[in-house]
Amino acid sequence: MNINKKRILVLFSINVFIIIHILLWYTYGFRKVGTFSLNGIVNLFGFGLLNSAAVFFIIVVAVTVFFGRVFCGWGCHFAFFQELALRALHKCGIRPSIIHSKANIIQYVFLLKTITAIFEFWHIYGFPQFHINIGDTQVITPDLPRSPVIIALFILFDAFLFVYLMGSRAFCRYVCPWAPLLALFENVSFWRIRKIRECTGCMSCTKNCTMGITVHEEIAQHSAVVSASCIRCLSCKGACQNGTLDYKFGINALSVTRTFRWLIPKVSNYNIYAELILIFCGIITAFYTQKYLGSFQTFLGAAWGLCFAVILLKILERKRITITETVLEKRSFPAVSLIVLSTLVWCWGTFAPHETRLLMRGNRFMDRMEYEKAIVTFTNAVNEYPSNKQIRSSLALAYKNAGNYEKAIIEYRTLLAEDPENAVLRNNLGTVYYRKGEYDAAIEEYKKAIVFDNGLTAAYGNIGLIFLEKGNIEEAVYYLENVFATEEEMYQYLLTYFGSKQGQI
Ligand code: SF4
Ligand code: SF4
Ligand code: SF4
Repeated sequence: MNINKKRILVLFSINVFIIIHILLWYTYGFRKVGTFSLNGIVNLFGFGLLNSAAVFFIIVVAVTVFFGRVFCGWGCHFAFFQELALRALHKCGIRPSIIHSKANIIQYVFLLKTITAIFEFWHIYGFPQFHINIGDTQVITPDLPRSPVIIALFILFDAFLFVYLMGSRAFCRYVCPWAPLLALFENVSFWRIRKIRECTGCMSCTKNCTMGITVHEEIAQHSAVVSASCIRCLSCKGACQNGTLDYKFGINALSVTRTFRWLIPKVSNYNIYAELILIFCGIITAFYTQKYLGSFQTFLGAAWGLCFAVILLKILERKRITITETVLEKRSFPAVSLIVLSTLVWCWGTFAPHETRLLMRGNRFMDRMEYEKAIVTFTNAVNEYPSNKQIRSSLALAYKNAGNYEKAIIEYRTLLAEDPENAVLRNNLGTVYYRKGEYDAAIEEYKKAIVFDNGLTAAYGNIGLIFLEKGNIEEAVYYLENVFATEEEMYQYLLTYFGSKQGQI
């Protein structure tokens, strides 16, 4: 079995392990070990949380420091889909050429975004406090794609279409934010592809390089592959019939080149204008997909933008004609555009919008009883989406739970001004008055709630409780009768209530 087949088998096994892990997690409730993801960097530095993802991140970085980007070659689940796409295209007689472009600066933008997210978490949640919880996945799971459709779209666009248009490992070379991070550590790696005997210059290594590195040139110049793009896939070693190459220990790239290697290629297939079009389309689509579809879908957006730009450039380069003429002439152009646009529209309408995500973030603080932080989140959200009643209602609840009753009343009154017959809001407002000790105002709101919804048992119960507090048992019983299914249950409640009062006395 050649090295490429072995690699694809290993990458396939990784995906099988992931499926087993998901099944264990969701079907059998085995939740001791959480997600394995390089997003662990956010858990670790953003929250001080050492969970499975953070441990995974540390291990991958440590491996890269010594052995180079072995993880990208042999350990990443998404590498499998890209290699699968390439093989499928080869089977169909399509051999996509590897396109080099400085548009891969987009990867650095995404990496920067991840790092700034860490600081954003510091800002929102405070300075991280170190703690260990290997099974904790809370921090990253809201962002992970759950829908099979989204996963299918990732495979279709980020693997198949991307590889078809930009060549082998296009996602790794243009979008993945972990590539520049791992490339950083790759610079000091000792184990790399090295020359062990004379080279004939046949260039077979270069033609077979998964990442489009000019291997024969690097070997001639440095006697080793020093490019930070090298993922240690060993494809070049397998392709060299002369036995010139081996994966060996030696001095690191920095010792050889004395310059730090970035991923941005020195030579590009495009001129500066084309590069700008690529970067613009990639970033702008990524930005809007993140805003409206969630942060994980950023990568889907970047692939859409880049693919669209490449198609556009291909057509324009070939014909040197205007876009209008191109659209009319090329049937594939409107077809691909339609697929991309309809997918975008479909996703747009189906997934949680930005305001819902803000709401979720605030609710996370509420769950942890960190009400002041919830107030900050909801206030920002209200400023951004003033007409969103759910967010304002959550803000009112956060004020109530934080004991800031005046502001809670203001928020509930604002909501009720637009929706005066909302029984739940009336009931909540009544509870704020009750907590404030303004029993009469509370009863008034509860009674209004009952007028608008005579089945709202919470309001009956709340009035009953206030009358009990006031010592008016007759009135209390009148309202409590609407809460309990039987008289027995109600008297049991009254006994418990008076029992606890006696205990207090
Ligand atoms: S660059 Fe990213 S997607 Fe590609 S193999 Fe590495 S971690 Fe996976
Ligand atoms: S395949 Fe081997 S012999 Fe041929 S150029 Fe590459 S390193 Fe040299
Ligand atoms: S240089 Fe060799 S090991 Fe590195 S990416 Fe290219 S083919 Fe793989």
